[in-house]
Amino acid sequence: MAAGWRRNTLMVHAGDGMFGDLEPTALPIYPATSFRSRSAESLDQLMAGQRQGFSYARHGNPNVDALVEAMMRLEGTETGIATGSGMAAIDAALYASGLAVGDRVLVSQDVYGASLSLLSTIWREAGVEVIVADLTEAGFFASQLEQSQPKAVLVETISNPLLKVLDIPAMSRLAHDAGAQMIVDNTFATPVMCRPAEWGADLVVHSATKYLGGHGDAMGGVVLGRHEHQDRLHQYLKLRGAVLGPFEAWLIHRGLRTLGVRFERQSANAKRVAKMLYDSGLFAHVYYPLLEDHPTYTTARKVLGDILGGAVVTLDLKGGKNEVFRFIDHLELVASATTVGDIYSLCLYPLIASHRNQTREERAKMGISDATVRISVGLEDPEDIALDIIKAATV
Ligand SMILES: *Cc1c(COP(=O)(O)O)cnc(C)c1O
Repeated sequence: MAAGWRRNTLMVHAGDGMFGDLEPTALPIYPATSFRSRSAESLDQLMAGQRQGFSYARHGNPNVDALVEAMMRLEGTETGIATGSGMAAIDAALYASGLAVGDRVLVSQDVYGASLSLLSTIWREAGVEVIVADLTEAGFFASQLEQSQPKAVLVETISNPLLKVLDIPAMSRLAHDAGAQMIVDNTFATPVMCRPAEWGADLVVHSATKYLGGHGDAMGGVVLGRHEHQDRLHQYLKLRGAVLGPFEAWLIHRGLRTLGVRFERQSANAKRVAKMLYDSGLFAHVYYPLLEDHPTYTTARKVLGDILGGAVVTLDLKGGKNEVFRFIDHLELVASATTVGDIYSLCLYPLIASHRNQTREERAKMGISDATVRISVGLEDPEDIALDIIKAATV
C-alpha cells in the first residue's frame, strides 16, 4: 500500500492485501475461532508477541485487523482496536486513558445519552468522579479543567441531537496543558469531515454501526490511539471480550469503501433539506451546523469549513409530544428508527429514545425540548425527504 495515498483512495483500498499471496480484491470472511500453529515453537513465539499471526479469535482475527488497519490509516493514528459496539469502544477508550479509582473525568453534557449513562452508572460505581458540563465555551472549558483536574475529557465532534460543533484543536491544547487525555467520539463527523487525532485528540472513538458501516446491517465500534494506548486497548479486548465478529468486521469494512461518496452526498442532501425546512417556516427551529443561526456556527465554519455540515438535521416542531407523535406516524419515506447514519433517512424522537433516561430539566439544559426530533438524512432525493417531512408536519 502506497504511503502517500489520499483519503478517498484510502477509503477504497486501506486494509487490502494484508494477508496471504492470493490477494483477493475482497478479503474472505474468516469465521474460525482458532488458528492452527505449525509448531509448538511458532505458537510460543506468537503468544510472546515475537511473531505476527493469529491464535484465538478473541485475541485477533484477519477481518477485524483489516478494518482496524483501514481506520488507523484514515484517522492517522498509531494503534487501534475494533469492538462489538460503539458503547464498548467508548468504555475501552475510557479504560485506555488510564482512568482509575479516585480520578475525575470531565464530559460534555451533549454527548450520546448512553455514554452519559455509562459514566454515571458503571464508571461512577467503580469510583470515578464524573463531571458533566456544557463545554461549548472554550473559556468555561479552561476553568472547568482547572477546577476539576480531570484525567480524561470526553466530547463529540458534532453533538447529538443539536449538532453543536466543538473547537477540538483548541480544547485538545487546553486539555494537554492541564494533563488530561482528550477522548473524541467522531461518529457524527466521520474521517471524511475531520480527523480529531490530527487536532491533538489522544483517543478517537466511533460507533461503526452508523456511517462507517452505513447500511444499517452491522453493529460495531472502533477505538484509535497512540502507541502508549496499545497495551491497554488490547488488554481490554482480551479480558472484557467485547470483540467484533468477523462477519460484522467484513460488512463494516465494505461500508468503508463507499463512505466518501455516501457521506459527501448525504451531507449535501442534509444541507438542502435543512434549507427547505428552514424556508418553509413550519418549524419552531431548524438546527444544522452550517445555518447561520446555529449556536456554534462560527466554530463550525472555523474547524469544519463551509462545505460539509454533516448529514443530520434537527427540528423543533411547533407543539409538544402529541404533535410529535402525529408527525412521526405521518412520515412515509423517513423511517422512525432509533439509529443514525444509514443510507436510508431516519427520524428519532430523543424524548422517548436517546434521552429518555435524562430528566426534563437535564434535557432543557441541553436545549432538547419535548418537540425536538432528529432527522438522519439518507441518500434519497433531498426534495422527497423534505417534502415527506413538510407533509407530516402539516397534517
Ligand atoms: C450510536 C452512538 C454510540 C453508541 O454506539 P453503538 O454502536 O450503538 O453501541 C456512541 N456515540 C455516538 C455519537 C453514537 O451515535
